[in-house]
Amino acid sequence: MKCAIVTGAARGIGLATAKKMLADGWRVVLADWDADELTSVCAVLGDNALPLVTDVSNPEQVNAMIAGTLNWAGRLDAIVNNAGVADFGPIEDTDFARWRAVMDVNLDGVFLCSQAAIAALKAQGGAIVNIASISGLRASTLRVAYGTSKAAVIQLTKQQAAELGEYGIRANCVCPGPVRTKLAMAVHSQEIIDAYHDAIPLNRYGTEEELANVITFLCSDQASYVTGQVVAVDGGFESTGVGLPAL
Ligand code: ADP
Repeated sequence: MKCAIVTGAARGIGLATAKKMLADGWRVVLADWDADELTSVCAVLGDNALPLVTDVSNPEQVNAMIAGTLNWAGRLDAIVNNAGVADFGPIEDTDFARWRAVMDVNLDGVFLCSQAAIAALKAQGGAIVNIASISGLRASTLRVAYGTSKAAVIQLTKQQAAELGEYGIRANCVCPGPVRTKLAMAVHSQEIIDAYHDAIPLNRYGTEEELANVITFLCSDQASYVTGQVVAVDGGFESTGVGLPAL
């Protein structure tokens, strides 16, 4: 049975991805730093799901996550680097601590988790799927740290694909557009929601499940000749070149 790690799996896109992979017959390690939420969501996921409380920006904890996975499943076939923080603000208000907090998780976390997974992925070949954002493809106000971190994740993915292909390791990046997560719905005003609907060719937000479907596909053998790619899952938004609504 194949085994995957999904980081940031306590809620949102990560949790939907873990559920989709479980339904497709994977064993899944759900890693998140929110211990309470992780424990409660995993209680109903069955024996093929293992919660591991992990801060993806902490190298020791990341190494423990990989060791815990191998101890449990004996192998690792895919890692989905989904853990992230969304902190939006003007450049002048983004002090160094705030900048670092975003980079620590969104960029360093992806680097550390992928690096720690390489040895296990090499054993039989495998997949890295990094979750960036359309904010990594285009600039917009208030996203100086978030957008820059996500643009770096896109380049990091290409570096991984270039270097790890010879070991049978594929690396791809998914860029979600607006997704109907609880968090997004809590912070997006009706005005913003309407602006997105107008700007998106499919005229709606995506769902967590629609993201999970593409992420799972990229992890699977169905995508065995796909690497180094950046896939926007955004209802066509990115292809239009229309700007992101100001938050
Ligand atoms: P999305 O819209 O991508 O689903 P969320 O904010 O809902 O985003 O989910 C992101 C997940 O990542 C949360 O469960 C959060 O606890 C997790 N997370 C954030 N930072 C870290 C971290 N440093 N280590 C592990 N998990 C993290």
